[in-house]
Amino acid sequence: MTFPPSVTPISDAQRVLCVFAHPDDVDFGSAGTVASWVAAGIEVSYVLVTRGDAGGFDQTPRDQMPVLREAEQRAAAAAVGVTRVEFLEGYFDGSVTPSLELRKEIVAAIRRYRPDRILTSSPLRRWDRFAGPNHPDHLAVGEATTCAIYPDARNEFAHMDLGLDPWVVREVWYSGGPNPDHAVDITDSYDRKLAALRAHATQTTHMAELDKFMRERLGETARNLGLPDGRLAEAFTVLRTE
Ligand SMILES: [Zn+2]
Repeated sequence: MTFPPSVTPISDAQRVLCVFAHPDDVDFGSAGTVASWVAAGIEVSYVLVTRGDAGGFDQTPRDQMPVLREAEQRAAAAAVGVTRVEFLEGYFDGSVTPSLELRKEIVAAIRRYRPDRILTSSPLRRWDRFAGPNHPDHLAVGEATTCAIYPDARNEFAHMDLGLDPWVVREVWYSGGPNPDHAVDITDSYDRKLAALRAHATQTTHMAELDKFMRERLGETARNLGLPDGRLAEAFTVLRTE
């Protein structure tokens, strides 16, 4: 199972909602792209399903981890110009499922933010790399968000108790899925992406060569998708959802 080829993105997006499972998901895959959207005047908001309470690589007391990681995500968002960051309550790192409850919470966010575009994690697993993007929370949030886009958010008779008007999202961008084919040249916003990643200190401080690692990975993505040598890119699958 894979995605069809990406469409040409809509050119008049005014609002983008990013829905991810953990603090740092949006930044590893997409912070350069988000920074370029913000620079273009697009209003970008984040909804995080968990506070990444199972993350970290040291002996930080576990009850401090969600507090630290929420603060890190807010700082990372600020590094790329995003100020609206919302965390859902009652979901925990490692146990997210695409439940009706989660769908409903994402529907509420869609109907409140009214985004033209949603950026989320891929609901499809990629088999060429076992770890990383294939975290079950990522797949679950991608699936729940996809169901929230269609049919839930646009169906006036779904989740009527929210008291919010239906909303049609026009486009979805998936991060971390198989064979992403839409490259965004982020060379000019790379410094902001790196600053966002460094803000996730609990997740990146142990990576002594973070800058080198990211430049290599983003450079390879750029080359694979036909960008000139020396450019850096993030890659997505872009689908129309109207
Ligand atoms: Zn994650």
